[in-house]
Amino acid sequence: MGEITPPFRATPFWERPLDTLNDAEWEALCDGCGQCCLHKLEDADTGAIYETNVACTLLDCETARCTDYPNRKAKVPDCLQLTRETAGTLAWLPQTCAYRLRAAGEPLPSWHYLISGDRNAVIDAGISVAGRVISEDEAGPIEEHVMIEGFQLVPAPEEEDE
Ligand code: SF4
Ligand code: SF4
Repeated sequence: MGEITPPFRATPFWERPLDTLNDAEWEALCDGCGQCCLHKLEDADTGAIYETNVACTLLDCETARCTDYPNRKAKVPDCLQLTRETAGTLAWLPQTCAYRLRAAGEPLPSWHYLISGDRNAVIDAGISVAGRVISEDEAGPIEEHVMIEGFQLVPAPEEEDE
């Protein structure tokens, strides 16, 4: 009888180093949280970055999905283009960002759809911005939307009565 070998288990792409992923695998790594699609403010004196609840014009604020992903760079030139080189270098990316985690050699969280099999788990886990943000087209002055404590949303001031 020949030698018995254990069943072969290919390493899932989300456990492999980022520089081994093909383009489809790279795109599939995104959890769809939408956090990188929110505007940030930088303190000119200290360099501190403040998050806001104001979303890019192309973000569907109810689903946290980009409404024109294939053409996003043409419509929003400063849309972040994460690369295998930059994924681990951007301090303002959320700690939960799949690219940031994998760049650091960390595993994906249990709610990530590649692990849970559930695209909505990112919402149930409170990570997605879906339903929690406002489009830049409606937000008014962005300074009124700064979030300085975690991911707590600061509501825009009530409009004054006429
Ligand atoms: S263009 Fe799309 S992917 Fe880029 S920041 Fe806007 S909503 Fe996000
Ligand atoms: S923060 Fe990371 S995981 Fe979330 S939408 Fe942006 S690229 Fe995808």
